[in-house]
Amino acid sequence: MTEPVVLPDFDSFGGQALKGLEAPEEATAATQALLSEDRNSGEPVINAPGESHLTLERGICREGTWYREAEVKELTGADEEAIAAVGSSSYKIFDTLLLRGVRTVGNEAMNRTLAAELLIGDRELLVMAIRRATFGNDLEFDGLPCANCEELVDLTVPLDAIPATRLQDPEQIEFPVPLRRGATATVRLPTGDDQAAVLTIKDGNAAKQDSELLDRCVLRVQDASGTVTRRPPATSLSMSDRKTILQFLAETQPGPRYGDFSFVHETCGKEVSLPISLAILFRGM
Ligand SMILES: [Zn+2]
Repeated sequence: MTEPVVLPDFDSFGGQALKGLEAPEEATAATQALLSEDRNSGEPVINAPGESHLTLERGICREGTWYREAEVKELTGADEEAIAAVGSSSYKIFDTLLLRGVRTVGNEAMNRTLAAELLIGDRELLVMAIRRATFGNDLEFDGLPCANCEELVDLTVPLDAIPATRLQDPEQIEFPVPLRRGATATVRLPTGDDQAAVLTIKDGNAAKQDSELLDRCVLRVQDASGTVTRRPPATSLSMSDRKTILQFLAETQPGPRYGDFSFVHETCGKEVSLPISLAILFRGM
């Protein structure tokens, strides 16, 4: 049987890396213990018809019309082999999941260009839908040690219990971000393409990754006197403004917040953090 912990955390590609503010959180020891134990539960649930369709948050725009409907499919053994074959590159694993698990977005068949064009949040929604189509809607945890009282907890987490962020206006492409000294940045939200570019910076320099993201997503900055600088180099922005913009991008990006899931343990009454990783989502693979 394949070891379950072959897929990296979401934290290592996307969410946390692009937030650029916090160190990536390791999966909790409890989660690791759970993943390494034998799995005798979590039998795939028979999916109700229609579970392969979803509505994206932004979708794609073609000749002025927005398309948000998407269709995914249940992953097969061939898909599992293909995903295992891409190695340990987290972005490639994620990309392969999308390319093999998504049938269509709008009227277009999934392809690399389309995958790169999608907002990060839409990509994560699609991966959640692939998970649902393949293993069902519920994440089953048996014997999960409570991080507070250490009692073993059996827990069923429906995928839609994972907190998610919505766009106020899905068709809004540019967003104003107030900066210091009366300046305003105009930004766009990161896509799969941006994510790939950020993750090619491999020397572990988070500041360089932040700069790459800002170089791509900051369209212009207007200072208090009204002077507009188009495409300002990220290195020319103040540390404070960089942080403000990165925080805005992270908070505004729609989609599931896998790292923010928590549950209240009835026995001890405490809220217990349980970050959901890609390895947990696809632990049947
Ligand atoms: Zn507890």
